[in-house]
Amino acid sequence: MRIEILNTGTELLLGNTLNTHGAWFGRELFKLGLRITRQMTVPDGEAIRDALAEAVGRADAVIVTGGLGPTSDDLTREITAEVLGADLITDEAAVRSLEAFFAMRGKAMAESNLKQALVIVGADVLPNPNGTAPGIYVPPRLNERGNCAIFLLPGPPRELYPMFHNEVVPRLRALSGIEAFNDVLEMKFTGIGESDFHQGIDARLAAVPGLEYGYCAHVGEVDLRLIGNADALQAGRGIALGAFESNLISEDGSSLERTVVRLLTGKMWKLATAESCTGGLIANRITNVPGSSVVFTHGFVTYANEAKTGLLGVSPESITEYGAVSEPVARQMAEGALRVSGADVALSITGIAGPGGGSDEKPVGTAWIGLAIKGRETLAVKVYHPRKRKDFKQAASQSALDLLRRTVRG
Ligand code: ATP
Ligand code: MG
Repeated sequence: MRIEILNTGTELLLGNTLNTHGAWFGRELFKLGLRITRQMTVPDGEAIRDALAEAVGRADAVIVTGGLGPTSDDLTREITAEVLGADLITDEAAVRSLEAFFAMRGKAMAESNLKQALVIVGADVLPNPNGTAPGIYVPPRLNERGNCAIFLLPGPPRELYPMFHNEVVPRLRALSGIEAFNDVLEMKFTGIGESDFHQGIDARLAAVPGLEYGYCAHVGEVDLRLIGNADALQAGRGIALGAFESNLISEDGSSLERTVVRLLTGKMWKLATAESCTGGLIANRITNVPGSSVVFTHGFVTYANEAKTGLLGVSPESITEYGAVSEPVARQMAEGALRVSGADVALSITGIAGPGGGSDEKPVGTAWIGLAIKGRETLAVKVYHPRKRKDFKQAASQSALDLLRRTVRG
């Protein structure tokens, strides 16, 4: 199925607003097994005409975003009707929902808003519970220029995203024929790189009939994307797990921190963190996960030596003798955080983010991670991520969270 995206908005071409719709549609359509064949961005107004006329002659479906508002530069509706040679009529249900929208907010509706209730004759009105402008769906049969479906959708993401899921996806499924849909499986791994996949399983994945696969590397993480029918996915998944099961973060798109929160919740363990070089990033990542309040108690950011000694009881002698970035200090940070917080498990990290502060013995990128668990011996692990400061923090937090994941998982 050839799907084209037409993003309208002068601000997108002036560089004021980043066109995030293109990437968003790419991801969402891809999950359905569909792909964008072309994406265009045009300024508000007349430019939409040519772009739309070309697209409907080429594609099976065109998704237009923006220009459904009440102002004079919002012309998507009118121009689409013109391109199709169709008439616009006022949709009474749309007028009522516009009135309700304003009444609920205690505002008077301006006359200009009424144009948002104009729809193309014969088209479906797509309800917009999150804004004023309804969307419009023009089925292929209304379109004399070609067998092409047209969706007109609002520009603001909070209106667009739900309308896409509720109104567009079911129609695309019907248009493309459900059996045409491949499934997609996204497996996230950590602690290994793309090259490990290449050497380890690439040839075997390539040999699975009907399996399409690709890798996407992030800092401290590699995503393996498998596309195909159920049998192909099963085979690809088996190969990946056979080689790298212990590195698997998730198979449902969950981040490492979400997986960690889920595992901790399952064990009913409380977590505290004691961070130096990551400056609270681990605590931030954990608390980005909804429901983390059930498992997370304390996040100590002990950047200075006095903070490590004062808050966590790290011995000043250890810092003098071994340095702040050392195994004994990482251990004492974790044990101190466990003691002070009363949590069941405490994760610590101390490292050298750079660009300065490295030595031959402890180069920039070195970090020690500590993991203290009630009633068990404390673990300490050294990692090395010689990267730019921000990437170092991300990679170091990833290593720390992965140590926690492996330990909680058992
Ligand atoms: P409105 O009633 O708000 O005018 P509209 O349907 O006419 O809605 P636009 O005016 O095109 O939509 O866009 C409204 C806002 O939505 C923009 O100011 C911008 O913040 C956001 N937006 C629109 N298109 C995009 C895009 N392609 N990528 C990211 N943001 C966008
Ligand atoms: Mg607008």
